[in-house]
Amino acid sequence: MNPAAPTVTLVGAGPGDAELLTVKAIKALRRATVALVDDLVDPGVLRYLRRSARIVHVGKRGGCVSTPQAFIHRLMVSEAQRGERVVRLKGGDPFVFGRGGEECDALRAAGLQVEVVSGLTAGIAGPAAIGLPVTDRRHAPGVALVTGHARDGAPGPDWAALARCGLTLVVYMGVARLQTLVDGLRAGGMAGEMPVALVSAAHTARQQHAVCTLAEVVDHVHRSPELASPAILVIGEVVRVAPAWADWQAAARRAPQTATQEWAFA
Ligand code: SAH
Repeated sequence: MNPAAPTVTLVGAGPGDAELLTVKAIKALRRATVALVDDLVDPGVLRYLRRSARIVHVGKRGGCVSTPQAFIHRLMVSEAQRGERVVRLKGGDPFVFGRGGEECDALRAAGLQVEVVSGLTAGIAGPAAIGLPVTDRRHAPGVALVTGHARDGAPGPDWAALARCGLTLVVYMGVARLQTLVDGLRAGGMAGEMPVALVSAAHTARQQHAVCTLAEVVDHVHRSPELASPAILVIGEVVRVAPAWADWQAAARRAPQTATQEWAFA
């Protein structure tokens, strides 16, 4: 690698709230002259850019018009080669379901240097926003971060194997394929009573959450459009430590027919 080659910085913007940015991320933003920004990046984060910085929105949400990945690669390379200080700003952590690896490969293949600034990932910080410690040792020996939406020929998770692994399951991009995910886990032997939490738009003003069971989660999501993407799904015994779980159970004991509707979205 040529040490004089321009550097592109991949910056993790965290899950929302700009106060969750790292100091390193803020320093990178202040230096940047061009920022390529994903659509999950909270607008509040952009205030750390210089006023003169050029902002290019390159979002690619599921189902929406998206910027082809190859275009993003070409743009990063051409701007850096023109002498711009390029920041690629990504939601959460750049290396957790963020295509950060592919972008590093493309930049290095073009002879550029890459710096990666880690960010708080939604799969850890999202559950924490509702009081859920995903690796609480009283409930699970660890956590698996999985995608509910494998794309472009990438293999999807083996839900049946995950049902048996005893880890807390944290699912990114799980809402669109929720039924497939639930069917796979049930087929693998996971009980319908397994607690599930859903946190949407965590660490933003739009944050919502629900606590229910695996058997109920599809219905809950259908009835509650406010729980739509972006959302993190947490499946496992650890959900029992979520503050809402106790309320939900108490309500379920009082009025089994209606309790989940009343309490799951508290
Ligand atoms: N690199 C990101 C993940 C990108 S994949 C990270 O480390 O967090 C996009 C998925 O992340 C969304 O579909 C959703 O499952 C999750 N996600 C991102 N931001 C979120 C937020 N604020 N609240 C809940 N889920 C979020």
